[in-house]
Amino acid sequence: MNNYLTYELNYHTIYVSRINGNQFFLPNNPNLTSKDLKRIFLKNHMGDEIPSQVTYKKELFKTIYISLHASSNCNMKCKYCFMQYRPDVNITIDEAKRFIDFIISEFPKAEKFIVDPTGSGEPLLRLDFILELAEYCHKKSDVISKEVLPMLVTNGTLLTKDTVDKLQSAGYIFGVSVDGYKKTHDTNRLNAKQEGTYKQVIKNVKNIKHRDYLGAAVTLTNENMSLTKTFKTLSKFFPTISVKPVRSFDSDVDGINDSNIEVIKNQFTRLYRFILQKTLKGKLDYLGILLNGDDYFGKYILRVCLNQKVNSRCDAGMGRFSLTPEKKIIACPGSIGIEEMELGSSNSGIDQEKVNRFWKIQSERKQCQDCEARYVCGGECMVVSYYKDKLLDSVDEVMCKLKRHLFELAIKFKFELILHDEQLFNAVYVGCLDKAKRLQEDKDLSLTLKKMHGKYNFLELKRIKDNFQEEYEKIKKFM
Ligand code: SF4
Ligand code: SF4
Repeated sequence: MNNYLTYELNYHTIYVSRINGNQFFLPNNPNLTSKDLKRIFLKNHMGDEIPSQVTYKKELFKTIYISLHASSNCNMKCKYCFMQYRPDVNITIDEAKRFIDFIISEFPKAEKFIVDPTGSGEPLLRLDFILELAEYCHKKSDVISKEVLPMLVTNGTLLTKDTVDKLQSAGYIFGVSVDGYKKTHDTNRLNAKQEGTYKQVIKNVKNIKHRDYLGAAVTLTNENMSLTKTFKTLSKFFPTISVKPVRSFDSDVDGINDSNIEVIKNQFTRLYRFILQKTLKGKLDYLGILLNGDDYFGKYILRVCLNQKVNSRCDAGMGRFSLTPEKKIIACPGSIGIEEMELGSSNSGIDQEKVNRFWKIQSERKQCQDCEARYVCGGECMVVSYYKDKLLDSVDEVMCKLKRHLFELAIKFKFELILHDEQLFNAVYVGCLDKAKRLQEDKDLSLTLKKMHGKYNFLELKRIKDNFQEEYEKIKKFM
């Protein structure tokens, strides 16, 4: 097997290293000799091995996700819901606070903490809990002088004006689950009476005055959803859209499978063309909507544009921990019910051996070693792997087909931009860099805070920096 592969693009050839995922492109030239190519490969570091980190180290995780299954209940009955059985138990606010304290104390060198009470039910069914949780996050931020940011995803049916005001005043960044447009949403996302909820959710969203940080969380289950139409529709209301493709292994459950994968790939190709066209015309809004949040394809574009390499698919069980209603600590909210992904309990703490095992699984997955998309994809989701093979370390060929396709589209997107307008690519590059920095510590803020010797607390100074730049600069000048 060649240690590189090629894609064709507008009379150019893009070369992609299978060793490290680096890429470069050349105009098609029949006179190019293998000696020339060797020299260009060397110049572009196409053969450089990426050093692997053999053992788990806490310091590798800068942003720590703390997830709480706040409500085990839900007021909807979505067809594709993974929680068929809902235990009638909930964690108390004291248990939630103790869990937050525990995880924060485990990661003294982390730069940022995200607390997410979405879990496996509808969080707004426990609004008082949610609000008290946010208050605690803010207190904690001031104590540790680092951001402890509350975030959640809701099904949107309970977003009355009053609730939105409370959530926004409490500092929540929140997303709404909405599957594209009416026809696709109402196929799966049903209320207890088995009626579609699209109209109600969009009405609630339209009533939200300040939508700057609002996200749409879209579940892509099959070929029936037009992704381009989804983007056109939802971008009227949301500045961020994240699409999550969901795999199915059971013929009764709608999801991505062997028979529809080519149609799904085609959907992404159309979305790619749509976003590329807009971007080339200088309309960067759609690209921004894709990059802003946690979109699958958006992540690939960001990593390819920045030539950023990832060693693991995710941080589940290593930098992300979730507390279930039964007070078990599991690797991530999606792993609820999978015994192999339990790490301990709020009484016993985290089993370090299991954490080390997750690291080994994620960094050494055999089937990924020769894959060109390895350092952009990071490997298979352990939950998908478990439901497919009852193993955590396998890969799923159907999802791999999709991921390799997205990798190719992301690379073509980058080189289309460079070919057409290098300045435009530079603007996109800066946008990607800004997005990547959002998950890191604001070093300037931390330094200013330190030098103020307690005159301001963390959130006070952050608020000034975010909203009153001039005032912040004055504070810095006179400190
Ligand atoms: S999970 Fe599949 S696409 Fe991703 S790196 Fe592994 S083999 Fe490649
Ligand atoms: S294991 Fe899968 S569901 Fe869990 S955090 Fe990782 S990618 Fe997400």
